[in-house]
Amino acid sequence: MSRIIDFHGHCGIQHNTNYRPDEIRRFLAGSPVARILISSLSATVSREYAERDLLELRDESRVVPLYWVNPYLAEWREHLDALRRQLPIPGLKLHPTANIYEIETEFLRPVFAHCRAEGLFLAVHTDTHRSSPERLTELVLDFPDVDVVLIHMDNPVNSIFLAKRCPNVYLETSWVERKWANLAPVKLALDSVAPHKILFGTDFPYEFPLPGHLDGIGRARSYDEIIHLYRELLPAAAAERILYANARDLLRRHGVALPSESDGQGDGE
Ligand SMILES: [Zn+2]
Repeated sequence: MSRIIDFHGHCGIQHNTNYRPDEIRRFLAGSPVARILISSLSATVSREYAERDLLELRDESRVVPLYWVNPYLAEWREHLDALRRQLPIPGLKLHPTANIYEIETEFLRPVFAHCRAEGLFLAVHTDTHRSSPERLTELVLDFPDVDVVLIHMDNPVNSIFLAKRCPNVYLETSWVERKWANLAPVKLALDSVAPHKILFGTDFPYEFPLPGHLDGIGRARSYDEIIHLYRELLPAAAAERILYANARDLLRRHGVALPSESDGQGDGE
């Protein structure tokens, strides 16, 4: 089975549960995931918990850690610098909706400036409320050298427009398959943006069958099912780029070493 890169995953505390690092590690061992970018949901509760989660995953070669920045914390740079001395962190996560702030240019300018100075990319949660992607327009134009990944590419039309207009803006596809069974936003994106800009993601472990976390889940999500859908509904070459190569290329630019082939052979770590 060929392997994939999941550009959007989590561990940690949210929705009255805790996806512990050891549970994440155990599940991934039986999955087609070659790499998964993980930020800790615990950041909405406690910075210390979130940092501890990432440190507990440090020996898991599949995990690429992202640091969840809460811009309200005046000392976020110091916290980040301290963690980067212990972990190779290639990018930052922003979640305006979960941390209850507005995407406002001057409020987020220090985060973008830090990414520019340190060569970090940004993964920004998007939705149709507080985190609407067009609110990032001024920032992505002011910082053309900072790669910005629109997590969930929500709503799709605004996200696609921004990715089409701005060379530094990328689209991540988590939940698209649940909202649009025909993957319409991914197909629209393929018609509209450069093909390297679309990155596969799932928002793992939400609704994946991790033992002890199945309460209230209707039909559990499955990597194999989602991957199958991409291969069935998208042109073959595009599907493979989206599932692996596009993320590999972006991560390599940010210093993450990855095998060349999606089958993962020769992955000498
Ligand atoms: Zn998420």
